[in-house]
Amino acid sequence: MRGIVQSIKGLLGGAPRKLSQDQITEAARQLHKFKRQPEERKKRIALIHEELEQPSYSFTHYSFKWRKWRWTSIILINMLFVVSFHFDVQLVEGALTASRFVGFHMADLNSALQITLAHKHIVINLVIGTVTVGILWWLVGGRAFCSWACPYHLVSEWAEMVHLWMAGKGWASDLPLDRRMRTVLYVIFAMLALGTGYTVFEAISPVGILSRALIYGAGVALIWVGLLLSVEVFFIRRFWCRYVCPIGMTYGFLGSVAPLVIEYKLEDCLHEGECRQVCLVPHVLEMTKKSRAEDVTMSVGADCTRCGMCIEACPTGALNFKIRGTGGLL
Ligand code: SF4
Ligand code: SF4
Repeated sequence: MRGIVQSIKGLLGGAPRKLSQDQITEAARQLHKFKRQPEERKKRIALIHEELEQPSYSFTHYSFKWRKWRWTSIILINMLFVVSFHFDVQLVEGALTASRFVGFHMADLNSALQITLAHKHIVINLVIGTVTVGILWWLVGGRAFCSWACPYHLVSEWAEMVHLWMAGKGWASDLPLDRRMRTVLYVIFAMLALGTGYTVFEAISPVGILSRALIYGAGVALIWVGLLLSVEVFFIRRFWCRYVCPIGMTYGFLGSVAPLVIEYKLEDCLHEGECRQVCLVPHVLEMTKKSRAEDVTMSVGADCTRCGMCIEACPTGALNFKIRGTGGLL
């Protein structure tokens, strides 16, 4: 329970807490102590140097083990809408934010919330659609919607690659913002829907804009998406997904109790931080810092999108997908 509360605090923008010794399990304390021994320290540092000296060492040397499946998933899910509309097969109708799948209502959780607040009454079809989508995404990990279905995630991931290349040359910066901004905006968007009777967020959400553009054709709203991507390339890495998007946050709440998690193993970790460098939400990987893990195995926090990039980046396999309560790793 304490883990879930901490996880939700992190999702809302809370800073990672500093642990006192009595909050760390005996097994983890022993392992931290063992790793601090001069011989073990030397071994670990030598391994890190060895890794960094690899000629292929760069952001792009990581494997595409999960990325290729994620990109395929995003493309397939979004193409399903496009193909259904253009060939009138009526398999999926609508867009990613609200649709009907073989006649069955599906609704993105955040859109459903915005619509309910704007219209101030509960539509039964919307409830059915929301519960269905909620259960589906809960099963695969809450914020998995972000990295496995969201069209903006894909373009923003490509923009991030450009950003990192440019930052490496000193042509782009990554201005840090306060993560609590997303919680404040979440409340503002909800209040706007309630106060105006319009789903204001939907008008500026790049998720809906891209989904509709793919299905019905490009519109002027794409200029807004281009603007957001420019901010991400030049000034703030993953600006929208890290600091603004209420959709990601809504799915994050589901993620706090989802059966599929990323599991961290303290014993296998070198603490060099490759995982945190690639992560969209590096605060969930706080336990990978030296002496910060409170147990020998831990699940990463609710804000995790289950993208698998930390797994691809970790040279020692300290991070893996896992179904809670089972010994099985994926
Ligand atoms: S945070 Fe929002 S825009 Fe980013 S991937 Fe998630 S749903 Fe898409
Ligand atoms: S913790 Fe790993 S799986 Fe989760 S968002 Fe970060 S990189 Fe992706």
